[in-house]
Amino acid sequence: MTSKEKGILVVLSGPSGVGKGTVCKALRQCAPELIYSVSATTREPRQGEVDGVNYFFKSREQFQKLIQEDQMLEWAEYVGNFYGTPRKFVEDTLNSGKDIILEIEVQGALKVKQKFPQGVFIFLLPPSMDELESRIVGRGTESEESIRSRMSVAMDEIRLLEHYDYAIVNDRVELACSRIQSIIVAEHCRKERV
Ligand code: 5GP
Repeated sequence: MTSKEKGILVVLSGPSGVGKGTVCKALRQCAPELIYSVSATTREPRQGEVDGVNYFFKSREQFQKLIQEDQMLEWAEYVGNFYGTPRKFVEDTLNSGKDIILEIEVQGALKVKQKFPQGVFIFLLPPSMDELESRIVGRGTESEESIRSRMSVAMDEIRLLEHYDYAIVNDRVELACSRIQSIIVAEHCRKERV
């Protein structure tokens, strides 16, 4: 038995509009012990988004500086903006024995996998591509151009599903949420971790 078990790093990816945000919100209710990594981004805040809660909103210069100072665990460019995971918070959380979830896109997830091959990589799938498009449109936050880019990136992202350990179809939020919880419980019972 290891004297102090490290936390589990969970990565949740899936195309824009699949409902990652909604699932994470539900997880906060049903799995309050799970810690959330807050990403940095150069994208403009959406209505209601709060700096330090939804994202750390940065200028491109500030973001570049974080990269140069090696403060990012990973980063990626997505539909014209930079997104990245602050490294220290993730490392401190894992070292304190708590589980942490990163809600990030695929390129970043693959970089995390190189650094944390023992992480748990979960991909959230839409019930169909039509449903995905109507969810992005229904959100009402994206321009027509952004919707087109997000749909085209979505196809590329789904092709990278093979790099993930688990796939969950997000047909019902509560179901997706309880499946993620079950995965985390199972991962804690892996004999290598005990
Ligand atoms: P949105 O603009 O819709 O908030 O996010 C766009 C995409 O960026 C989503 O797929 C989201 O998961 C991803 N994303 C958010 N934070 C990060 C991050 O820190 N790193 C990477 N690589 N992707 C992120």
